[in-house]
Amino acid sequence: DELISQIAAGEVVERPASVVRELVDNALDAGAGQIQLKLLAGGVRSLVVEDDGCGIPDSELPLAIKRHATSKIRSLDELEAVATMGFRGEALAAVSSVAELALVSRFDGAPHAWRLDARSGELSPAARSRGTSVEVRELFFNTPARRKFLKSEGTELGHCLEALRRHALARPDVGFTVWHEGKLVDQWRASSLAQRVAEVLNEDFVSQSREVMAEVGPLRIHGRVGLPEAARSRADMQYVYVNGRYVRDKLIAHAIRSAFDDVLHGQRQPSYVLFIDITPELVDVNVHPTKIEVRFRDGREIHQQVRRAVVAALALSRT
Ligand code: ADP
Ligand code: MG
Repeated sequence: DELISQIAAGEVVERPASVVRELVDNALDAGAGQIQLKLLAGGVRSLVVEDDGCGIPDSELPLAIKRHATSKIRSLDELEAVATMGFRGEALAAVSSVAELALVSRFDGAPHAWRLDARSGELSPAARSRGTSVEVRELFFNTPARRKFLKSEGTELGHCLEALRRHALARPDVGFTVWHEGKLVDQWRASSLAQRVAEVLNEDFVSQSREVMAEVGPLRIHGRVGLPEAARSRADMQYVYVNGRYVRDKLIAHAIRSAFDDVLHGQRQPSYVLFIDITPELVDVNVHPTKIEVRFRDGREIHQQVRRAVVAALALSRT
């Protein structure tokens, strides 16, 4: 059983950045307004995510780290229409099978917090304000082969920061703070999308990009696309979200690429932050354990509309 959990963990937890992704998903699902990430040694030695969300009642703490325990869906029907980031109930169980994990949580209205040590199962009173801290230490300590695949501290830190950027761009209404080795690395206060993009990507992107905005039936496309004169348009400034979830989707990437080719004749590496909101029934997000891939019911329609929306935004800027 231990082995099975470790194998399953391999699909969800590849490196510290995967833990960041899962824990920040959970914090957002809990309605957090402020999220802090604290790292030691690129997140390998210690990775803590603190939120001010709803918290977990002490009676439910042991359940939170059980495999396939999720408080977010109750039926297969609901699986079809998930609105929350998490829904498989796998992340905490997976992380606790490959690292030392502790949960400290104070449920809304509880007189104090509780701490659960995953390995011993021990539950003890603790101190913190409303919300949850998830502490993950010594990632892959019990799977040395996997630990060997981790890169340098700097590289792992870079991946953790990128994971946080992906969330931060999608949720400008939430404040994020990140610390490494006790030093403040980044702090993004709750603000507008334009402001968040400026802080997270670069100052110039906002003035050198155009707003995308289109609504067609059950589809809403919005965000910003970089203009060709954008000084620092980089291949890695390509962010696409489907229903608030960061995805890497070939279909959408191709639609955007061809819109850039139409208008700008491909002189530039496109840069963009694009949000696609669609009725949950028209997209399957349950394709991959990390939820990074999606499948659209009508891919051709999505392709056409995304391309059209981006062309409109870029063409407008030419006149
Ligand atoms: P999932 O997110 O798919 O439900 P997880 O393993 O990520 O599965 O989390 C298990 C459960 O633990 C969640 O369903 C939720 O009830 C609880 N939980 C985890 N993290 C938090 C958090 N930061 N705040 C409140 N509840 C949380
Ligand atoms: Mg989750």
